[in-house]
Amino acid sequence: MGAETDIQDVLVLGAGAAGLWCAEVAARGGRDVVVLEKVSRTGTKVLASGGTRCNITTTLGPTEAGRLFGTKGERFLRAGFRNLPPADVRARFEAWGVPTDEAPLEKVFPSSGNAKDVRDALEAAARGAGARIQLDDGAVAVQRDGDAWLVRTAGGGSWRARALVLAVGGKSYPKTGTTGDGYAWLRDLELGVVDPVPALVPLTSGASWVHDLTGIAWQEGEARLEDASGRVLERRRRPIMFTHRGLSGPAPMDLSHHVARGGGGGEGLRLRVDFFPSMDREALRTALVSSAGLPGAPRLQRALGALETGPMPRRLFDAVAMAAELRGDVAVNGLDRRGRHALVEAMKGLPVPVHGTVGWDHAEVTAGGLDLREVNPRSMAVNRCPGLFVVGELLDLNGPIGGLSFQAAFATAQLAGEALAGAVQEK
Ligand SMILES: Cc1cc2nc3c(=O)[nH]c(=O)nc-3n(C[C@H](O)[C@H](O)[C@H](O)COP(=O)(O)OP(=O)(O)OC[C@H]3O[C@@H](n4cnc5c(N)ncnc54)[C@H](O)[C@@H]3O)c2cc1C
Repeated sequence: MGAETDIQDVLVLGAGAAGLWCAEVAARGGRDVVVLEKVSRTGTKVLASGGTRCNITTTLGPTEAGRLFGTKGERFLRAGFRNLPPADVRARFEAWGVPTDEAPLEKVFPSSGNAKDVRDALEAAARGAGARIQLDDGAVAVQRDGDAWLVRTAGGGSWRARALVLAVGGKSYPKTGTTGDGYAWLRDLELGVVDPVPALVPLTSGASWVHDLTGIAWQEGEARLEDASGRVLERRRRPIMFTHRGLSGPAPMDLSHHVARGGGGGEGLRLRVDFFPSMDREALRTALVSSAGLPGAPRLQRALGALETGPMPRRLFDAVAMAAELRGDVAVNGLDRRGRHALVEAMKGLPVPVHGTVGWDHAEVTAGGLDLREVNPRSMAVNRCPGLFVVGELLDLNGPIGGLSFQAAFATAQLAGEALAGAVQEK
């Protein structure tokens, strides 16, 4: 336990992805680093990540990866992703003895398929560089104390530190230890905080026909989220899954932050599913017309199976046909012009009503957090608070599924670690 009279060089709160990474870089750069972790082990979220396989980063280059964070996020992450591109994250893990493999959808996993290897490597690297990690020692209060930072812990201890790194993560998956402690500290320091909402989280729909499609996954679709006026809030071309509560899978989850914020006013949100995004309406119409000439005049569902995405599950086809006001057993040569038009519209944009998200307990990340305008994007130093750094998910960054959250956590942690190490060299 730190004594209030002693002053610690660098104190990092949170031994998660960003905290461990930052501790390693700062300690390797000559700083005396202590990490305080609230729960009894490091990297609990790393262990839970990627279905316990941990998708550590992306195969995308730094520019393409940055673009996935929206205009503000991209601008903010430009320096960080250039400084630590996804390929360097991979190289760093390989150097720590964790070989990696590429997977579909631009993902990168440890070759062992075991998130524990990632967590162990992060912890070993931080400890190996000289950082000390105290488990079961959560911070409960953070305040300025003259030239230093004062941190009080749940066990009644307190620390004074010249530099303080907040790496306590967001509010999602609270059972892992991340209960959103950082937001109150930031607000108490009168810093701007964008309201946190659950993100990368499955969506709920009240429509029973959606629940009837439970278990069906469509790999090649595009989901676009529309508000009541039909304005498209965002679109994602990623797999889509139907569940007993609504929609899951990468595309709906990537769009979920808009739903959590009540995008476009909240009421009347719907996800339009384009089942054939690589074919335009005209190409679909032509394919339907030419299938009408096939011998035996196949049922529509079978005719659609001849298209590049392969067969459409019966229950899903019935839902599409219902939206087009057609019978599921209609044959291709039984379609008139109006029917063909309605079917093409339903295949290019089946409207699925969306009512909310399944909430914090199942959200992979938090959207919202420390307003990026408060932070220097080259060092993660908080502009109005000398000696304070914020890294990882506590920042108002929001990227899609695919290793992007870890990439942002590591890149922001790297900058803070380097800034801290650089301060030693300048002394
Ligand atoms: C189920 C699931 C799967 C995921 N899969 C992926 C994936 O495959 N790829 C990907 O890129 N991202 C994934 N994520 C997101 C990713 O885990 C996070 O974005 C990332 O861990 C954020 O890093 P961080 O260091 O900012 O926060 P965290 O890793 O959450 O670390 C924060 C740490 O701070 C500790 N802490 C909290 N409060 C205090 C306190 N008061 N005092 C001291 N310590 C405190 C916490 O216990 C925790 O150890 C997933 C998330 C979940 C929940």
